[in-house]
Amino acid sequence: MVSLNLFFNQLFQIITKISINDVVDMMIIAYIFYKILMFIKDTRAEQLFKGVVILLVATQLSGIFKLHTLYWILVKILEVGFILPFIIFQPELRAGLEHIGRNTSIRKLGPQAASKYDMDLIESIESLLDAVYDMAEKKIGALVVIEGKTKLNEITETGTKINGEITKQLICNIFVPNTPLHDGAVIVRDLKVLSAACFLPLTQRKDLSKDLGTRHRAGIGISEISDCLTIIVSEESGKVSIARSGKIYRNIAKERLFNILREFEEKRHENNFGFIKDFIKKN
Ligand code: ATP
Ligand code: MG
Repeated sequence: MVSLNLFFNQLFQIITKISINDVVDMMIIAYIFYKILMFIKDTRAEQLFKGVVILLVATQLSGIFKLHTLYWILVKILEVGFILPFIIFQPELRAGLEHIGRNTSIRKLGPQAASKYDMDLIESIESLLDAVYDMAEKKIGALVVIEGKTKLNEITETGTKINGEITKQLICNIFVPNTPLHDGAVIVRDLKVLSAACFLPLTQRKDLSKDLGTRHRAGIGISEISDCLTIIVSEESGKVSIARSGKIYRNIAKERLFNILREFEEKRHENNFGFIKDFIKKN
């Protein structure tokens, strides 16, 4: 009982000593640490990070157990190795820093940043949907894959790189029949048209309706192997369908698709603390 009182007294003393500066300090460190973990998760650096942790632990242990030669070698490796990741992972580091600057918590920076992000998001979705429903009306077939968290690099490599802003004109232009890029799918990443004329894997499902040909099968196929959202415009019926997680939802109205896309994109950008749980689980 006495020791419990002592514990709470000490705890109270510590808490009363915490200043607002300490709280801000801790929050900044937690934020930076979280960002580093996020960066590592999406790149090859995850393996390297594990290697460095193992090396650090081994160095400490060899020091504690006085294994002098091993300790000396490990320290030397660490000294030289410190600079290597920056050289090897230069492209990833650059991409990571750009990502941090551009992305996720931009909405948390303040009302101005929030409205800028929302405006860009709404503008891109509106342009995309204007194009999609314009093509549907004219019965022009189209296939658009919106990337989720899974990167579709192998798929984008089968097509032609575009790297352009989403505009109604660009999307409509790509799918003009008998033009070089109209055959295949457009891949959208981070609200940008990444590439066009991409070849998607077809679903092997046997239970699909007979009027769903290869365009729809390709749209469903890619949604089976990734967390993307596919938009399919049928040139036969002029109807717009979407595919997610291997399922197809047919004849979707524009307003509904707007809400679906907005939620999809916001979720993708969301500062997701689930990652930390995943990271801890995986390790
Ligand atoms: P629609 O209702 O528009 O006719 P559909 O489901 O009946 O669509 P098809 O008529 O077979 O499908 O459409 C063929 C077009 O689908 C091709 O010209 C091509 O643009 C696209 N397509 C077919 N297979 C793939 C694939 N594996 N990856 C990407 N696009 C594909
Ligand atoms: Mg057809």
